[in-house]
Amino acid sequence: MSVFDHIEFDEHEHVAFCHDKKTGLKAIIAVHNSYLGPALGGCRMWPYANSDEALNDVLRLSKGMTYKAAMANLNQGGGKAVILGDPRVHKSADMMRAMGRFVESLSGQYISAEDSGMSVADLQIMAEETTHISGTKASYHFAGEEADGNPAPSTAYGVFTGVKASVKYHFGSDLQGKKVAIQGLGHVGYRLAEHLHREGAELFVADIYPEGVNRAKEKLNATIVSPDEILTLDVDVIAPCAMGATVNRQSISTLKAKVIAGAANNQLASEDLGELLKDKGILYAPDYVINAGGIIDIYHQKMLSSNEALKTHLEKIGATLMEVYTRADEQNLATNRVANTIAEEKFKK
Ligand code: NAD
Repeated sequence: MSVFDHIEFDEHEHVAFCHDKKTGLKAIIAVHNSYLGPALGGCRMWPYANSDEALNDVLRLSKGMTYKAAMANLNQGGGKAVILGDPRVHKSADMMRAMGRFVESLSGQYISAEDSGMSVADLQIMAEETTHISGTKASYHFAGEEADGNPAPSTAYGVFTGVKASVKYHFGSDLQGKKVAIQGLGHVGYRLAEHLHREGAELFVADIYPEGVNRAKEKLNATIVSPDEILTLDVDVIAPCAMGATVNRQSISTLKAKVIAGAANNQLASEDLGELLKDKGILYAPDYVINAGGIIDIYHQKMLSSNEALKTHLEKIGATLMEVYTRADEQNLATNRVANTIAEEKFKK
């Protein structure tokens, strides 16, 4: 498929392809927009069925990063990298070094970080060949955790501040006694559950694996429900923290919660569902606004910021959501549309 005519191309500034015969590396780096600064975004390794699929993914994701960085008030643009291959089968240290050289060849126009199929250890190997890497040393220490570069604790804290702000906006209250259903108790979902429990929320949790939910039942007094049931519960908040497309034409008809605020990327199966949520009186926290804690963390790792500076920045997610909600109400628009417009006002100068 042609790059310039690609449906996801959308004025990308730079798309670079790399094939390193010696290590088998096949990779694409996409820089969507660098008006606000060098493009920052993760590197994903995935067994794509073909190069079209990989191109589609990298273009879509890098554009998403432009919007996310703008709404997080970062002086960064949006970019992404993908490596074609199965991380469990094809990855090698030499391949990671070759990827590091590919990143270096863009002279800092793109700064790489962690994404699916890539670990902090992989980034550390890439960093042998380039300085344009972040996410190898976290600065936010949550509940005594050893910081290792994984931004999940910051993502969870950012989502927590976003849930708090959304509840305040919709119900005019704090989290005490509020019923929150969390779909997916992984790296972000479990930590979010801990924050919410500490603020007095009543938790309902579901996962396709038992470890996280069992721990939440034991330690956080959470009620375990089945993955099929979690979205239909009569709760105040649904926090999607598993996969995308939680809100789709089927699930929307059975939603009883009044607020949707969680970590998952691409929560709406399509953008027009934002209007349906608005019509149903459900407040939706646009995913890339509420889950920006990860990229904020990566940015502060790069800047070698203090723990306090990072925490203060994460807490601004709540204020940004308030701005989105207020404007959406004033203009009678869906929150996802308003977030897109605010982001574009920042990077499309
Ligand atoms: P994770 O893989 O650690 O956790 C996801 C959890 O969801 C797993 O425990 C999995 O078993 C569970 N799950 C999968 N399908 C499910 C289903 N149908 N019902 C219930 N549970 C299900 O991932 P994570 O790092 O916690 O990220 C969670 C979401 O947040 C993802 O969508 C991710 O893209 C997004 N996100 C994560 C970060 C981050 O810093 N980790 C940053 C931004 C966005």
